[in-house]
Amino acid sequence: MKKICIIGAGYAGLRALEQLAKNPAFHITLIDKNPYHYMQTEAYGYIAGRFDISDIAIDLEGYANGFEENVTFVKQKALSIDPEQKTIQLSDMSLHYDYAVIAVGGMTNFFSFIKGSREFTQGVKNIERAFEFRQAFEKRIYLKLEEKKLNRKGDLHIAIAGAGLSGVEIAAEMAHMLQSYHKILSQKSMQLKISLIDAAGTILPGMDPYIIKNTEKRLRELGVEILTEAFIKEITHREILFQDETTLSFDFVIYTAGIKGALFVQELATEKNRLNQIIPDDYLRLQNYPDIYAIGDCAEIKDQNGDILPPTAQIAEKSAEYVAKNIIRIESKESIQPFHASVDGVFVALGGHYAIGVLFKVIKVKGYSAYMLKKIITRFYRLGLELKVNAGYKKRI
Ligand SMILES: Cc1cc2nc3c(=O)[nH]c(=O)nc-3n(C[C@H](O)[C@H](O)[C@H](O)COP(=O)(O)OP(=O)(O)OC[C@H]3O[C@@H](n4cnc5c(N)ncnc54)[C@H](O)[C@@H]3O)c2cc1C
Repeated sequence: MKKICIIGAGYAGLRALEQLAKNPAFHITLIDKNPYHYMQTEAYGYIAGRFDISDIAIDLEGYANGFEENVTFVKQKALSIDPEQKTIQLSDMSLHYDYAVIAVGGMTNFFSFIKGSREFTQGVKNIERAFEFRQAFEKRIYLKLEEKKLNRKGDLHIAIAGAGLSGVEIAAEMAHMLQSYHKILSQKSMQLKISLIDAAGTILPGMDPYIIKNTEKRLRELGVEILTEAFIKEITHREILFQDETTLSFDFVIYTAGIKGALFVQELATEKNRLNQIIPDDYLRLQNYPDIYAIGDCAEIKDQNGDILPPTAQIAEKSAEYVAKNIIRIESKESIQPFHASVDGVFVALGGHYAIGVLFKVIKVKGYSAYMLKKIITRFYRLGLELKVNAGYKKRI
């Protein structure tokens, strides 16, 4: 039986597992430092208080139990990989592999040139930070309700540094939620403000102009202040300082200005880019190590024109499917083709029952219909996970 170790149970790791587990000739060990799968694409709703923790987390033990006997889940942190010995060192044990799939994702890239970005901001790349922010934010709302003094002016100002997909979705959902809070708190004349900041000349840099234009319109309707070409120099306890010497005071800063490859990648002796992502070969294998694959956010993945694709769950899943199929083909002594990544579409959730999307570059939708399409995609994804968790639960009782 071939031993396959998948490091990381994110979008990429789980999709690879689903494909590989179908083959009874494989034993797959899924490794994650957390006991849950974090649905980051839904984090905007959790942060804003619309979704519960059960909407963004899936128990990995139960999920793995839902497969046949050829799947094992190990909740441990992977520390290093020895390609010569074909072993992975975990916190408390080491595992041998025939194939290893690295799917450790990314982490928030706190830029060293922005002083204070790590100390004074909230990231959203892990549940712990998202939970901390949500608690702190809800406490503020509660204090206001109790008519306790908030800050100097008695208002509430949230700044979001980074107007990519995650920053935009969080800004829109928070603005939408704040509108409903405002209805409760209006008597207390609370001023609620959200500023979305980016150094680029536009929000959602690199995305379809239809999405950019309509997202901007929607954000403005929700009362979000958009600051583009705004270069942050420093973040202090209560203020953002820009390079042009202007300042912006805040109660919370959510930092979504970029990601880099997870820490595990740092220790790997392989080619990496400036964002600490693995540069794999055309088959998503580590250079010189054909039995180790890199998928998802921790890998630099290019499209057919050679342009690096932004890290998304969609590309993570596509790269996982491709690698799983390759392993199956190699074991069946079949030939393999290079990976050709392409983006099918993008949907941006923009507060409440509103979204904007472009599918296959030509189908453009906005409003409730786009929201429903996005919802259906997420629902299907989640349903697959829930079915496995339920099956795993039934096996134990
Ligand atoms: C707020 C937000 C909104 C987003 N919205 C969208 C969207 O609408 N559409 C979209 O396509 N994408 C979206 N994304 C991006 C998407 O979530 C990522 O591209 C996706 O999560 C990448 O999947 P992955 O499997 O590569 O990594 P991840 O999902 O990050 O998973 C990596 C896993 O590896 C584990 N891990 C890391 N290091 C170790 C270690 N040393 N040992 C063991 N385990 C380890 C982690 O615990 C984690 O479970 C959004 C991201 C955020 C933050």
